[in-house]
Formats: sequence, C-alpha cells, structure tokens
Amino acid sequence: MSLSRTSDVLVIGGGIIGLVTAWRAAQRGLSTAVVDPEPGGGAAQVAAGMLAAVTELHHGEQTLLGLNLASARRYPDFAAELTELTGHDLGYRRCGTLAVALDADDRTHLRELHALQRASGLESEWLSGRDCRRLEPMLAPGVRGGLRVDGDHQIDPRRLAGALMAACEQAGVVFHRTWAERLVVRRDRAAGCELRDGSRLGARQVVLAAGSRSGQLAGVPDDVLPPVRPVKGQVVRLTVPKRYAPFLNRTVRAVVRGSQVYLVPRLSGELVIGATTEELGWDTTVTAGGVYELLRDAHELVPGITELPLTETRAGLRPGSPDNAPLLGPTELPGLLLATGHYRNGVLLTPVTGDALAHALTTGELPEVARPFTPRRFRTAVLTELPA
Ligand SMILES: Cc1cc2nc3c(=O)[nH]c(=O)nc-3n(C[C@H](O)[C@H](O)[C@H](O)COP(=O)(O)OP(=O)(O)OC[C@H]3O[C@@H](n4cnc5c(N)ncnc54)[C@H](O)[C@@H]3O)c2cc1C
Repeated sequence: MSLSRTSDVLVIGGGIIGLVTAWRAAQRGLSTAVVDPEPGGGAAQVAAGMLAAVTELHHGEQTLLGLNLASARRYPDFAAELTELTGHDLGYRRCGTLAVALDADDRTHLRELHALQRASGLESEWLSGRDCRRLEPMLAPGVRGGLRVDGDHQIDPRRLAGALMAACEQAGVVFHRTWAERLVVRRDRAAGCELRDGSRLGARQVVLAAGSRSGQLAGVPDDVLPPVRPVKGQVVRLTVPKRYAPFLNRTVRAVVRGSQVYLVPRLSGELVIGATTEELGWDTTVTAGGVYELLRDAHELVPGITELPLTETRAGLRPGSPDNAPLLGPTELPGLLLATGHYRNGVLLTPVTGDALAHALTTGELPEVARPFTPRRFRTAVLTELPA
C-alpha cells in the first residue's frame, strides 16, 4: 500500500510530550503531523504539575537531576512564550515547595534528602516545625520540621496541554484523530505508520511519543521497542472556597508511612492531592483504598482539608522506564526517534524535551544536555549483561 500524505515528521502520541515535540519541530520549518485519537489528553489530565527538580531528587538519580534542572531553568521563558503565542494562562506559579516531616523517621529521611540536595549544589533550607507552621498555618501541630525549596514551582498540566494544542495548530501541525496501529518500516527505515482504518501516513522521520503505550506499537523491531511500562497514579481534587483562601501558599509534601503525599494549591482554588504509585498494568480504576489513603495522609499533614468540597477523583498512567528517566532521540532504526518514559517528571521535562527533539530532528544528534538519555543506553546494558 502506498504512503499517502507524507510529512517531514510524524509524531505518534499527542500527550504533552508529543505536542511539544510537534510544536518545536514545526517552528523549525518541518512539516509535522500528530496521530492520536484524543490529542491533549493523556497523563497531563491527571498530573499535579509540580516542577520539582529539587524535592523529587532521589539517590541514584543525579544524572536525571541535570536534565530536570535544565528544564526547570527553561520554564519561565517557555511559559511566557506559550502564553504570548496562544493567550492561554498556564497557571504557572513560582510559589515554592515545603517538604515536611511528621515523625522521627520522616525527619531522618528528610535530613538525608537535605544532605543529598546540598551535596548536589541545590538550594534548600531546613526549618523547625514552628517555622514551617509560620509559613503554612494550616499545617498540623505535629509537624517536626521541613525543607523549604523556593525553586520548585508548579503549572496546571491541563492548561499546558490546551496551550500546546493551540500552539501546534498555529504552527500548522496537522492532527489525525485516530490510533496508529503499526509502524511502517521500508528498506530498514521507519517510513510512517498504519492507521486504524488501514490507511497509511508517510514521514521522513517518526517520533514515538505514545506515553505508557510506547512499548506496545506493532511493527517496531524488538531491539528498538522502548522498555516503558504504565505506573498508575490516583489523585483527588478538592476546591478551596474563597472564604478559606489562601488555604496553602505553596506546595506541601511529605512521606507518610512510606508513601509520598503532596498538596498542590492552584490560584484557581483547586487543591490537588496525590498520588498513589501502583504497578497494575493498564488499570485506571479509582479505588476506595487509593482515595482513602490519599485523604488520610493529607489529613495528617493538613487537618483542615476535611472542610473542603471534594470535586474530582481520577487515575492516570505514568510512562515508567527502568531507570525512571526518559528515552530521547534517535534509535538504532534509522528514521525512528523516541520521546517517552518521562515517568513522574513529564510536566517538568516538557520544555527540554521539545528543544532536544527539535535539535535531533534537524541535526540527527541530541544536544549535550540530553545525550545521557539516548534510548541506546538500554541496548548497551543488555549487551553487557550477556554471558561471555
Ligand atoms: C498521578 C500523576 C501525577 C503526576 N504528577 C506529575 C507532576 O507533578 N510533575 C510532573 O512533571 N509530572 C507528573 N506526572 C507525569 C506526567 O504527567 C507524565 O510524565 C507526562 O504527562 C507524560 O506525557 P506523554 O505525552 O509522554 O504521555 P501521555 O500523557 O500518556 O500521552 C500519550 C498520548 O499518546 C497517545 N497514544 C498512545 N498510543 C497511541 C497510538 N498507538 N496511536 C496514537 N496515539 C497513541 C495517547 O492517546 C496519549 O494522548 C504525573 C503523572 C500522573 C499519572
């Protein structure tokens, strides 16, 4: 079958990562198409939108920290550019984050995180429980101390997705609102995709940005298929009535009984409480247990939440990768690039991903900041694990 409607770039998946890739590619003069039955949907409809390079730092993830910080630095200009182009308010809020401890174990854990942050050259300040409550009077009296991180901001991911859709449309990106069923490979080169109705779209370069489904696309050779899996996250949304505002001034988070919980207050009055982390395949059921745990843990941090109307419960799928870092850029199959595996930092990593992929699409190479995230790193790992 012939490949009709050929573009320079075809992006499979129109979540925030596929959209930013398409937008930046089109800005560089490449004719670009996106295939997705529901572009602008995906995990961004669930995500909290913390831009948390510093408070999300984990042992063993220092390489990812470099990319996270690079993206955080781009956010002010990125958000301003999108808003100026589209008129969309992204809910970008430079309000900072307060990570608090409720008991002695949490306090030890937080002290360790503080030491790691300082060793990594990051700015964060240790506060007593009293100082934490001075900043956030709604905190529980039992808070034992906390870390103030003014550099960790937030954005509303739903608004971000809406603005990226508008920016793509303005830049002339063509949308095909259907599923890509299979990658088309011609003469050992990615050449487009087959759609659900059997028709085919051709492209000089294909970017696979299908989020947690990126490892599922038929036609992608096994050794190139990204090792991405779905990691379920449930969130609860409350609304702060005007008479209680400002309920919280910044994002508040903690580890309670080993589980992460955070409260993200938006200027709109929305308060997002998240998130569970569950390895349950494609399941996106909101469960009583998930909601119960989130509300129970959030209530220990901020008892006053029980007064607020509960407006939404939802579950989404993070695209997880073996090292919790994204897979970016060219693969071993000529013409096929990846932009996936952003796991719990996809909103934060949107600006740097767009820039890195546009660079790769126009030069064939990743910019330096993104090179450690080449998909080839997993291929190398597999090869070195083989017995001699
Ligand atoms: C509960 C939760 C909380 C989060 N909180 C944060 C946070 O605070 N900060 C942060 O930075 N990140 C956060 N994230 C992570 C972030 O939301 C994701 O990393 C990011 O949204 C992934 O975007 P994506 O475009 O790669 O994938 P997705 O959003 O999954 O989009 C993939 C798109 O591909 C489409 N698609 C899939 N298969 C095909 C196909 N075969 N053909 C056509 N289209 C296809 C889908 O329809 C979808 O629209 C959170 C995620 C969750 C679930």
